[in-house]
Amino acid sequence: MKIQLKPQDYAVNRPPIWCPGCGDYGILEALRRALAELSVPNHEVVVVSGIGCSSQLPHFMKTYGIHGIHGRAVAIATGVKLANPRLKVVVVGGDGDGYGIGLNHMIHAARRNVGLTYIVSNNQVYGLTTGQMSPTTLRGVKTKTTPFGAIDEPVNPLALALAAGATFVARGFSGDIAHLTTVIKKALTHRGFALVDVLSPCVTFNRINTYDWFRARVYKLEEAGHDPSNYYEAYKRALEWPTLDPYGKIPIGIFYATEDKPTYEEEWVKLLGGAPIDQKLQPNPAEVL
Ligand code: SF4
Repeated sequence: MKIQLKPQDYAVNRPPIWCPGCGDYGILEALRRALAELSVPNHEVVVVSGIGCSSQLPHFMKTYGIHGIHGRAVAIATGVKLANPRLKVVVVGGDGDGYGIGLNHMIHAARRNVGLTYIVSNNQVYGLTTGQMSPTTLRGVKTKTTPFGAIDEPVNPLALALAAGATFVARGFSGDIAHLTTVIKKALTHRGFALVDVLSPCVTFNRINTYDWFRARVYKLEEAGHDPSNYYEAYKRALEWPTLDPYGKIPIGIFYATEDKPTYEEEWVKLLGGAPIDQKLQPNPAEVL
C-alpha cells in the first residue's frame, strides 16, 4: 500500500543554518514537497552533495545522504546509482561546486545519461567563502575577486548540458516554490539524467541578482508555448540568458525532456547480464526486521 507522505516527513529535528532569506530554503522546501507529492519513501532517497552553502542540504533531509567533497558529488552519486539503480539519487550543490570544479562530471553524467536528479543552487557567487566571483557571475559584476567588475563570460549550464546530451534540462527559481516543486517532481520521475538549474539568490554576498532582480525577468516556458520535445527550440531558449542577453528576460521551466535514450544504469545492468531494472524499490529494512 502506498503511504501518503507530507513535506515535513522529510525534515530533521534541527533547522538549516543558512542566512535568513537564502534561496536554499526554497530549494529544500520544493524538494521535500516534490518527494512528498510523489510519495517516495525516505529510505529510497539518497541526497548527495559537494561543498558549499547549498551542499549542506543533505543534513536537513530525513533520507540517506552523503556530504561529499568539492566538485565530486556527481561522481559519488553515479557510484550510488550503479550500486542500486532502484534508488532515487538526488545531487545538490552550488554553481561554484557544480559548474566550476565539478563541471566535467556534469558533462559526462549527461552524456552517459546516468539516472540522477541534479539540482544546482545557482547564486552566481561563492557564498561559503564570502563572496568571490563564480563561474556564473555576470560580466561587469563586482565581487571580492573582481573589484573592477568581472571580465569572464559566464558559464551557460543549460546550453552545456544540452550539448552534452542531457535528456532533461530545466530551470527553476527559488522565489517561486510552487513552480520549482513542479519542475523537481518532473525531474525526479524522469528516466535518465536530469539537470535542474535553480536561480537561488545569495542575500548576503550577491546584492545584484536579488529576488526582485529575478522577479522582474523570469517568464515561464509553459506559458510561452514552448515545446520541450524540440531539442533545437530548447537550445535557442537556453541561449536567451545569460549568453545572448545577460540582463534580459530569463526563461524558467522545462527546456527539454526525452526518454528516447537508454540510461547508463540500464546499459550497465545489461552488460553484467542482470535482469532488467525493476522500478519497484527495495523494502524498507526496518519493515523487513
Ligand atoms: Fe545562502 Fe549566501 Fe548565506 Fe550562503 S552566504 S547561506 S548562499 S545567503
